[in-house]
Amino acid sequence: MRVYIIGAGPGDPGLLTVRGAELIAACPVVLYTGSLVPAEVVARAAPDATVLDSSGMTLDEIVEVVVKARDAGHDVARVHTGDPSIFGSTAEQIRRFEALGIDYEVVPGVSSFTAAAAALGRELTLPEVAQTVIITRASGRTKVPIGEELADLARHKTTMALFLSINLLDEVVAALVPHYGADCPVAIVHKASCPDQEIVTGTLADIEAKIKATRIRAQAMILVGKVLDCHDFADSRLYDPTFQHKFRKVKKRPVADAGDAGGDA
Ligand code: SAH
Repeated sequence: MRVYIIGAGPGDPGLLTVRGAELIAACPVVLYTGSLVPAEVVARAAPDATVLDSSGMTLDEIVEVVVKARDAGHDVARVHTGDPSIFGSTAEQIRRFEALGIDYEVVPGVSSFTAAAAALGRELTLPEVAQTVIITRASGRTKVPIGEELADLARHKTTMALFLSINLLDEVVAALVPHYGADCPVAIVHKASCPDQEIVTGTLADIEAKIKATRIRAQAMILVGKVLDCHDFADSRLYDPTFQHKFRKVKKRPVADAGDAGGDA
């Protein structure tokens, strides 16, 4: 018996991994976070599977479902939104499974921050512009640790992906403007990859007013950074004809520094 902690992806059922889909179809018990996982994803469950929505359950109740399945010798598909490793509340479940000696495996998924970047058609890292992505949230009801306040992180001025923060947009803007500047591009993607996906783009100066004019109040990704509206960045060295790596010989003239590129990204 094993619990499969499966990333369901950001919303589009087509963005579930093949392995995740196969496991959902095969497990006699499917326990999914009903608040965000689309119905089509769990519709793959076998007709005689027990399919339960965990959105009204406590951690104890979730563990109870898993223990019952273990006693019956049934595998469990524990389906979470996006990727289970990012703001997934999966660690506390894994801790319980480990304490109970219950076998588990994590199956990754497409996170909403990469789905949001895809919706925008943007790369979050650009040569010489941003080589770091900060994945974080504003400090709301769940406080962030000391040193991780947005004002601290903003000093890096790099690409930022903010989860769970759309209702604190005023605080996000106030913390970022001193470092990023009021003209820094911002994109808000609501329900990335879903049929009713909405994109609002602007700058730190005008994004609050633009969002207020919509009905977007939840399930939104805030992306901030120069990469969102940058067109004069340098080409990467990866496809540079003078740059050699183990998958391609120099096309024109040799260069001394082969850097660390290991091949086609
Ligand atoms: N593990 C998930 C995140 C769960 S936390 C992942 O990897 O995506 C829930 C937050 O994720 C939401 O508040 C929102 O900020 C973001 N989110 C989840 N699905 C989203 C979607 N389809 N579009 C935009 N943001 C989404």
